Amino acid sequence: MTLPDSEGTFAAQAVVAFRRAKAAPDSLALDLVGLTVDSVTAPGASRAARQERRPFAYDGRKLRIGLRPRRGTGAESVVVFYHGAPADGLFLRRDARGRPSAFADDWPDRARDWLPTVDDPADKAPVRWEVSVPAGWRVVANGRFVRRDAAAGGRATWIYDERSPIPTYTMVLGAGRMTASRHRPAVLGNDSVPIEVWAEPEDSAFADSVPFRRATEIVETMERLVGPFPFEKLAEVESSTRYGGMENSTAIFYPEQPYVARRLSEGVVRHETAHQWFGDAVTERDFHDLWLSEGFADYFAVVVGAALDGDSVMRRGVAGLMRGYLRSPVVGRPLVDSAETVLTRLLNANSYNKGACVLHMLRRTVGDSAFWRGIRAYYREYRDSSVSSADFQRVMEQAAGRQLGWFFIEWLHQPGYPQLDVAWRWDSAGRRLSIDVTQTQPAAWGLFTLPALTLEVAGGSGPPIQRTIALSSARQSVQWDTPERPTDVRVDPDGDWLLTAQVHSQP
Ligand SMILES: [Zn+2]
Repeated sequence: MTLPDSEGTFAAQAVVAFRRAKAAPDSLALDLVGLTVDSVTAPGASRAARQERRPFAYDGRKLRIGLRPRRGTGAESVVVFYHGAPADGLFLRRDARGRPSAFADDWPDRARDWLPTVDDPADKAPVRWEVSVPAGWRVVANGRFVRRDAAAGGRATWIYDERSPIPTYTMVLGAGRMTASRHRPAVLGNDSVPIEVWAEPEDSAFADSVPFRRATEIVETMERLVGPFPFEKLAEVESSTRYGGMENSTAIFYPEQPYVARRLSEGVVRHETAHQWFGDAVTERDFHDLWLSEGFADYFAVVVGAALDGDSVMRRGVAGLMRGYLRSPVVGRPLVDSAETVLTRLLNANSYNKGACVLHMLRRTVGDSAFWRGIRAYYREYRDSSVSSADFQRVMEQAAGRQLGWFFIEWLHQPGYPQLDVAWRWDSAGRRLSIDVTQTQPAAWGLFTLPALTLEVAGGSGPPIQRTIALSSARQSVQWDTPERPTDVRVDPDGDWLLTAQVHSQP
């Protein structure tokens, strides 16, 4: 790929490797939007024949390439020669300080605006970059840095190689006059992962010392909790992404405005770093299972924060996620919302907040040791692959040694959450406390099962007493001997469950 000196058009040759399906079609269809295709070549029929031109049809959205008839499913390749000024996906523009730069931003389906690929999260691939840039520019891209070849006129070609299959929505390059600093590599066993912070020179000291101060520790904490870092290096990059952060495999892009305003903080770094495991290495096969990416990243941002800074981060973090969901406009939609056709609308409090809460509640349901066994097995089994919610359920059921279909149906496929009405009364003659718990959420949401709901009874001379009940029906009553009149009953005092509760006492 050859990038221009400033705004304008770029030119590229994309070598696309593929395997033909069994029922071998004689054409290959690639997504490519709004560019000019100059020619397509493929290796000739005989071993001696070099590249030969292939016929193609391009309607501005799909590139269909005619292939030679062939038997077998061995690896093949075509080379697409193309150029243009991308309307989206790759942004050739000036950075915050007015210097020309180039940054890709692909989620969910904008890689096709500058790369000819099968642009679908179910179809991951390794990627190798060779990017020619003007004098003084540096390039960051997915994978291991291979080398920089100097060329005439001060231009240089930077080569990166990502060997693991990654989703197209994370295939990126960034280029411009950036400063790159090396942090301490993350270490796990004999492996070490280079950690780099790329920024505009004016922002480099801030980036190193504030948001990315613990970039290495965050990676090492994820490795301890989940498993080895999935890729060759990790670069944290100031960029022109439209998102609050974009988890591109090995090259996370953050938007430049929070650097310039000096308000980029570590929470987003923990979220995007967690995506390297969940989203990038283990990828949702279908965007409707986006919670497997965003819910995991939100939960692990909190879990890693708690591992670094203590348990209060966990409690505050989960409470914040729950609040955000309860206030959101999507509580009436199921988390896995297969009816939603606009992919960007899936970036909502269901995929993020509720997805994170689902993991927290699953952990409370199966217990810590089964939860972590399951998470590690899920990563081990599906790393470099793509998954559905059913795959995750199966691994967690194996780890827990029991069926969890009810849990996933209620939390992924039913909309809403339990709205509890809790009425208590104390019988002074019998010195007994009666508590009626009723699920009052809309019938369309269905009923929920809470296998261990804690009720805390305060009052009298001693400390509050906690009792745990298993809530599994629309209405349940419990009675306890309580020598003194309670002053208060609290529901789920540790905030383990995504619910609301109205508590009132009856005379
Ligand atoms: Zn995310």
